[in-house]
Amino acid sequence: MPGETAPRLSIVAPMYNEAANVAEFCRRLFAVLAEVPEPWEVVCVDDGSTDRTLELLRAEQRRRPGLRVVRLARNCGQHGAVMAGFAESRGEWVITLDADLQNPPEEIPRLLAAFREGHDLVGTYRVGRRDTRFRKWASRVTNRLITRISGISLRDFGCMLRGYSRRVVDGILRNPEYRTFIPALATFFAANPVEIPVRHEARAGGDSKYSLLKLLGLQLDLMTGFSLWPLRLLFLVGSGLAVAGLAMAALILVLRFVLGAEWAAQGVFTLFAVLFFFVGGQFFALGLLGEYIGRIFQAVRRRPAYLVGEVYEHGDDAP
Ligand code: UDP
Ligand code: MG
Repeated sequence: MPGETAPRLSIVAPMYNEAANVAEFCRRLFAVLAEVPEPWEVVCVDDGSTDRTLELLRAEQRRRPGLRVVRLARNCGQHGAVMAGFAESRGEWVITLDADLQNPPEEIPRLLAAFREGHDLVGTYRVGRRDTRFRKWASRVTNRLITRISGISLRDFGCMLRGYSRRVVDGILRNPEYRTFIPALATFFAANPVEIPVRHEARAGGDSKYSLLKLLGLQLDLMTGFSLWPLRLLFLVGSGLAVAGLAMAALILVLRFVLGAEWAAQGVFTLFAVLFFFVGGQFFALGLLGEYIGRIFQAVRRRPAYLVGEVYEHGDDAP
């Protein structure tokens, strides 16, 4: 039943231009919640949509008690939107899921069962994943890479159907990082986590909101947000290259004396190749340093991860 003031369960769903899915999402979600004995609420976060998402949500809200709508002032990205939902949520258990129905709401009771068993963080991994082959391959590589460099071991970083207890949510909210990756951050605050398999479906309507560039940004958030390892790698690679460069210089010097000046002139091109290699390496290194510095810059500015525009409650526009 929808809890008016003290829900036990909060559902948080970020939505960015999901007009094609709002009605079906609400239908399936509320059908599932009707069977949940604890009091609940649903917090839909409209992440600055430019289509009819907000309008449709408000229409749903008129006939669905327990549906709360947070409108962000601009597009803040999926993780910013989830953060805003966290801040607005009041339940002891908070479950997030995508609004495109790729995370079937029908799996929610299985997460609830894990909460009832006393787990404070319910991670998930997708079985029978319905995405493009490229996305699946990219996820596999990322999961492995991130586990290796951050030491955070999650089977599936990308699945957003997850459960967080209030303690974990509050922990996350105390870290108002401008750009973060919630499933990874959550592991720092969990005492008794568990991971369960969940089903995955094809996107119901509309298109993926992630371009290749946005995906890349997400990978960088994960990589630089949870580890200094790339910086260390930079140092190692740099040292290796410097040693190799020195050795090569010595070799060229020796060859110059053995083979004479004639040879050295012809070696100019080899030197060019070597030069390009080192210059490339330096740019790479600078880029990586810049990435961290940029993030430090963002952090010291303490820009918020999201900006709430309006909060709508059920019955707001009742006569
Ligand atoms: N989303 C959002 N803000 C954004 C991008 C996405 O709130 O800037 C939401 C989107 O509406 C969806 C969820 O995040 O509910 C996952 O997005 P999407 O399905 O496009 O990602 P994919 O499944 O392709 O990884
Ligand atoms: Mg999706």
